[in-house]
Amino acid sequence: MTAHLIDGKAFAAKVRGQVAEHVTKIKEEHNKIPGLAVVLVGEDPASQVYVRSKGKQTAKVGMNSYEHKLPADTSEADLLALLDQLNSDANVHGILVQLPLPKHLNEDLIINSIDPAKDVDGFHISNVGRLGTGQKSMVPCTPLGCLMMLREHHGSLSGKNAVVIGRSNIVGKPMAQLLLNDSCTVTIAHSRTQNIQEVTRQADIVVAAVGRPEMVTGDWIRDGATVIDVGINRIDKPDGGTRLVGDCDFASCAEKAGAITPVPGGVGPMTIACLLANTLTAFCRANGLSEPEGLTA
Ligand code: NDP
Repeated sequence: MTAHLIDGKAFAAKVRGQVAEHVTKIKEEHNKIPGLAVVLVGEDPASQVYVRSKGKQTAKVGMNSYEHKLPADTSEADLLALLDQLNSDANVHGILVQLPLPKHLNEDLIINSIDPAKDVDGFHISNVGRLGTGQKSMVPCTPLGCLMMLREHHGSLSGKNAVVIGRSNIVGKPMAQLLLNDSCTVTIAHSRTQNIQEVTRQADIVVAAVGRPEMVTGDWIRDGATVIDVGINRIDKPDGGTRLVGDCDFASCAEKAGAITPVPGGVGPMTIACLLANTLTAFCRANGLSEPEGLTA
């Protein structure tokens, strides 16, 4: 079997287009502009790239982008003061603190100091609890992007057997919760799971969020299953240089799967698109407008 390629790049462009349309309409009808504030502490090169890209894409869909770049030795008190200010700024509808933070800052304290209604990363403890209890919440961007692609490909996910590999707070756990909320039968596999290949071979849907290059091979996958590869791993090429690969061995998994996301060009582009979608959702909720259809969980 040769798998259908789930094109995350094209899907992300569609999501951004939908967000941009909503933003234009909001400007025309309400004379308001949704705004996203991104806070970066320190000079981690990868984080700088992400933040730049987020800023650019926010502006491209017509939203206001506010970047706050703070030095690596910023004190907790100063960062909390900035969050206080952003929480009460009526022009800011979404707040994202780029992770990881420098070691001297308490990540949980910082994330839980963001107004949950503006927590577009969906990491605030209150949003985690709301997602877990089926209440309206802000949903973490990467799993939301995976869910959107799965819904688009399958229509209803009800009754599907889903295996999520990885139990991190930012991907694995919220992914499993979202699939459960869509009535999948969900298994979470992790580093202590026994006979993991047997577990994944039962799955209609496999989501791999591990951080181990090409760990999942075709013999882990049932014929016709859908494979969502969240992993982003940079590996050395034999002839020098590096390339990006996922947590799945694309060639052998594509032989077995019915559908698969590539790396790059799969889950990655959906993550920022979902950040924009979440900012729009936060704006709509804050202004008593109906939520954008198809862009929320
Ligand atoms: P974490 O390191 O936080 O979690 C990895 C999970 O994988 C853990 O639960 C761990 O289990 C599990 N694991 C590790 N080794 C094995 C193994 N041999 N067998 C089974 N499970 C294993 O990673 P993240 O969730 O943050 O990220 C996962 C991947 O997704 C990374 O490649 C990351 O770069 C990528 N990513 C991509 C994003 C995107 O936008 N596309 C966004 C976020 C992440 P245990 O808990 O037992 O240790």
